[in-house]
Amino acid sequence: MVMIRKLFNFLNPLEYLGKRSYSVVYPLVLSTGIALLSELVAYRVLDDPRSVGSYIIFTHIALIVYLAFRSGIAGGLAACGVAASYYLYIILTREFSAVQVAESLRVTALLSVIYVGIALIIGFLKEKIDTLIEREANERRRLQTILDQLPVGVLVADASSRIAFGNKQIHTFLGEELKRGFKVGQDTLPGAMFQGNPVSPEEWPIVEALSHGKLVEGREYTLRRKDGSENHFRISAAPVTNSRGLVFAAATILQDITAQKELETRKDDFVNMASHELKTPITSMKLYLDTLLSRMDLRDTGRIRKTLTSIRTQTGKLEELVSELLDVTRIQTGKLMLHTEPFSISGLARELAGEFSASSPDHRVRFLGRSGIVVTADRFRISQVLTNLLANAIKYSPSGGKIDVAVEKTGKNVKITIHDSGIGIGKNEQAKIFDRLYRVAEPTESTYPGLGMGLYISREIVQRHRGSITVDSELGRGSTFTVTIPQGNITRGTKQRVSFKNV
Ligand code: ADP
Repeated sequence: MVMIRKLFNFLNPLEYLGKRSYSVVYPLVLSTGIALLSELVAYRVLDDPRSVGSYIIFTHIALIVYLAFRSGIAGGLAACGVAASYYLYIILTREFSAVQVAESLRVTALLSVIYVGIALIIGFLKEKIDTLIEREANERRRLQTILDQLPVGVLVADASSRIAFGNKQIHTFLGEELKRGFKVGQDTLPGAMFQGNPVSPEEWPIVEALSHGKLVEGREYTLRRKDGSENHFRISAAPVTNSRGLVFAAATILQDITAQKELETRKDDFVNMASHELKTPITSMKLYLDTLLSRMDLRDTGRIRKTLTSIRTQTGKLEELVSELLDVTRIQTGKLMLHTEPFSISGLARELAGEFSASSPDHRVRFLGRSGIVVTADRFRISQVLTNLLANAIKYSPSGGKIDVAVEKTGKNVKITIHDSGIGIGKNEQAKIFDRLYRVAEPTESTYPGLGMGLYISREIVQRHRGSITVDSELGRGSTFTVTIPQGNITRGTKQRVSFKNV
């Protein structure tokens, strides 16, 4: 069986596509063999040496096509040479008359030209195909080498969802080779988790890219290997389209972010610990200062009172900063709790507008909303959001001006808008200002102190109330921040503790 398959492969010209070995030995041997066979047929089967007929022409055309397609131009030409020589041999050995010899020589010359033409055309096409196949194979090898050197894992699936190729890193990351014929969207990767839940096959980014042509960027997954070790990955995927825009494959990239995650956790733990350690002495300092100030004679406007008041103000700022740091770590670890209760949001907004107006004489902070709008939410946290937005409105309106606070009911939601006519935010920055520690890197910004935590904390608080926070702004013309939260209770009873893990 193996021998038969080997013989079939040896004879099959398709087996030689892409292999640029153009030996003439096999064409010479086969053509000579066919000539000898023809002689045998002429002398033994037909019993008439002069009756070599037109079948020999068809045989030779087929032979030249076959050999040119198998062994290139050289193979085709070798077959042409043997055929022409055989025709000359027939002319010399068959005792033709002078007229027949002349006619036969003319036909032989004509046939030789046709044969050489066929051999050249088919041989040229065969060699061209070989070059293209070889070029593609080289290209593939080059790509594979580059992909294997990359520090990220790369996987490509074809239109039938099968893995077309993957690089070395993929196997290292998964801790095992993907089984042969692995189909994305069908086969499962045991131990894969997304936001704490097991990942079903159709949820992978590569499946979205392949079936919906969607670009998926930087989703974080956890993969547990067979040996029990757990790694974190940032996974992206993109569809590959042909010239008509149809998706015929998809590529996915896995970036191992385990070390980065561990570092982040350590950093969060450190910030959390440091903030807790700082909070206690700061609170005591504030209490001592309050006591000292309250015991001082109110009429005393001397240097000591001024110094103590300014230390008290700075201690207050320090306390706010430490609370913000603690909030950030609470958000990171999913420990930010909400204590919901019904309260007047318009009352709160009016109260804060009054406080800010009094503390910043250069700004006119006005409350323009309706009174008596009640929400069920965490009063302390919502107050923190509005305070931060108002403080920003004042901070980023250095030349003073109007700041308007409005509260209105929209369907089942309550909308709070804070509008200032300050420095504004560029369009490119608007989506990023809600990111952790993001600050606009304008040269003018250096004069505004801050750490870029306020809006991040505000967005998290609003999102945990199942609401949204947006900004509409133009550079140099001011900004409008809009907070929308559901009016009704986001939990079943009031005064419940709500914790959302990594929303
Ligand atoms: P920061 O402590 O830097 O104020 P925030 O998270 O509160 O941090 O704000 C992030 C960035 O958004 C700020 O650095 C500032 O560039 C921009 N920003 C926030 N509010 C306003 C505003 N009302 N007008 C202009 N820029 C603002």
